[in-house]
Amino acid sequence: MNKSLFDFDKEDAKSRHKKLTEQIRHHDRKYYAEDEPEISDAQYDKLRIELEKLEKQYPELVTKESPTQKVGISPETAFTKVKHSVPMLSLSNLFEDEDVHDFIQRIRRFLNLPETENIEIVAEPKIDGLSCSLRYENGKLVMAATRGDGTEGEDITDNVKTINDIPHELSDTPPEILEVRGEIYMRRDDFAKLNKQQEEKGQKIFANPRNAAAGSVRQLDSKITAKRPLKFFAYALGEHSKIISKTQWGIRNKLEKYGFKKTEPAYLCSNIDEIIKTYHHILQTRAKLPFDIDGVVYKVNRLDWQERLGFVARSPRWATAHKFPAEQAVTILRKIKIQVGRTGILTPVAELEPITVGGVVVSRATLHNEDEIKRKDIREGDHVIIQRAGDVIPQVVSVLMEKRKTGSEEFIFPDHCPDCKSLAIREKGEAARRCTGGLICKEQAVLRLIHFVSRDAFNIEGLGDKIIRSFWEEGIIKSPEDIFKIEEKIKSGQLNLKDREGWGELSQNNLIESINSRRKIPLDKFIYALGIRQIGQATSKLLAANYHDIDNLVTNMKNKEEEYEKLLEIDGIGESMADDIFGFFAEPHNLKIIENLKKELEIIPYQTIDINDSKIAGKTIVFTGNISISRSEAKAQAEKLGAKVSGSVSKKTDYVIAGQGSGSKLKKAQELGVTVLNEDEWKELSSS
Ligand SMILES: [Zn+2]
Repeated sequence: MNKSLFDFDKEDAKSRHKKLTEQIRHHDRKYYAEDEPEISDAQYDKLRIELEKLEKQYPELVTKESPTQKVGISPETAFTKVKHSVPMLSLSNLFEDEDVHDFIQRIRRFLNLPETENIEIVAEPKIDGLSCSLRYENGKLVMAATRGDGTEGEDITDNVKTINDIPHELSDTPPEILEVRGEIYMRRDDFAKLNKQQEEKGQKIFANPRNAAAGSVRQLDSKITAKRPLKFFAYALGEHSKIISKTQWGIRNKLEKYGFKKTEPAYLCSNIDEIIKTYHHILQTRAKLPFDIDGVVYKVNRLDWQERLGFVARSPRWATAHKFPAEQAVTILRKIKIQVGRTGILTPVAELEPITVGGVVVSRATLHNEDEIKRKDIREGDHVIIQRAGDVIPQVVSVLMEKRKTGSEEFIFPDHCPDCKSLAIREKGEAARRCTGGLICKEQAVLRLIHFVSRDAFNIEGLGDKIIRSFWEEGIIKSPEDIFKIEEKIKSGQLNLKDREGWGELSQNNLIESINSRRKIPLDKFIYALGIRQIGQATSKLLAANYHDIDNLVTNMKNKEEEYEKLLEIDGIGESMADDIFGFFAEPHNLKIIENLKKELEIIPYQTIDINDSKIAGKTIVFTGNISISRSEAKAQAEKLGAKVSGSVSKKTDYVIAGQGSGSKLKKAQELGVTVLNEDEWKELSSS
């Protein structure tokens, strides 16, 4: 028979607590990190409830590591701006060993120190991640922000709370106010695993661990962040109400006591020779580190000196980053492949004998364009020097001519599209050759569709690159409007997705649902989705703001003679862009696509409300709980009407809009006497 909770003696409770904690952690990992839950949500909830009950009865069992203290919380807003109480400076860079000498001498001169006085320097790797500032009040994490421009960052508190390396509550006796600065990063092996998962799911592949870390932190849904294997190193302080150490080295140790991981390996150097030796040691062993680094950071150890040195422009005088040189390697260029882009541009890519450069396996490198290949005389079969610097795409630097095989042939850039075989022409003044195949070019068509459903356009989940490609081949989606006919075709029995390999009833329904959820789209996103050459998100917004609705836009764009000058009057649109825009609308096929899409969609006209007429202009608003539209959309709507959207309730809050399941924020609003509105009341207020 199972013991009831009340029969537990303390030892029993302790071991049960440990067991439950382990089980919950295991299932968290299965669910979040590996996407392979082993138990149902209900079973999981049961474990958590038991743990909570146990901790209620034996509060001494609660530690900061307990799963009850680490709950993935949904973000309340899409990144409110936060001002840093102490600016987050960026480091100056140096590149040569001799520069280290200058760095130390400048400090010596500034502090007026004799040559005999040692200047101790802390040297630690410069992690290639995302800087973050964590604010703790009375030991509790109250705010996490990105660096932003150094004075103002974005509130990423909810997302950061899902990172295991970041304690929600500090150990030891931290100062009342303590800001901890450090780097959010992803290990290389975790990065490789994540990309593999992404690929299998047909989702975005990240270029490098830093991009993956940044992309993961800036998710609107913290549940996604929680699934990403993020880590954190603490390395500095922002605002702090009490001095916690006299040295940088001491701060490192204190941070560890508070519960952080400190950047490793780190060295305390007492002279220039030691600094340079340390630099070369880290440089040579960098591939063995599990994470990417791009240099070594030097910091003056004595904090009173740091204080006196202060900063110049945006960088501290007491610290600098000694950057690593770009990594180079020699390998064989197997083949020059020509890729066709969405707008028909042909791009040459070098396919390489795979080689490790700076700890990363490289098998492709960019060759830029036709002239570049000619200038460097790059040929297939050549031994080439490739270079990788930071997160830049690897490039071919030069050819080792002495290793060139006899009989090798100069590379002739094709004058036909490798995909559709149409003529590829190079217009005057342009570096690139372009396929003229237009509609018959498959690669362009597929890439246009991929663009159409991409995140900043229609953002249709479940239609990854691979799926678009096979749907195109099978004739399921040939043109954007076909996407919106999928449901109809399934219902009438013309199409069956659920029996495809790897699909099922659920994935079929999910896809239909995500397509249907995008049938309403703002004009600017619609324009962007069309993929007009040179027209990015910003220009799409300009067009939407100036032409308001789709019919007006189309009518005017069909009338180039009258409209050309007017279009050029828009700040941000030049002649070459204008040509591309009119060129797009001059094409009957494109107009047909727009007509067909209009039958499937509601294209929301660009809103130009005079915000002075809005009742909520200048008001501070907090959303909490679930409402019928997404939080980011609600926020955008409120902001369009001139309101400020905040993530937390205070006396300054004018309205709290409470949806279903509102918790602590609703309670706080009621305590402070802030006006609380339900969703209908909010709609009425914001539309009046
Ligand atoms: Zn083509």
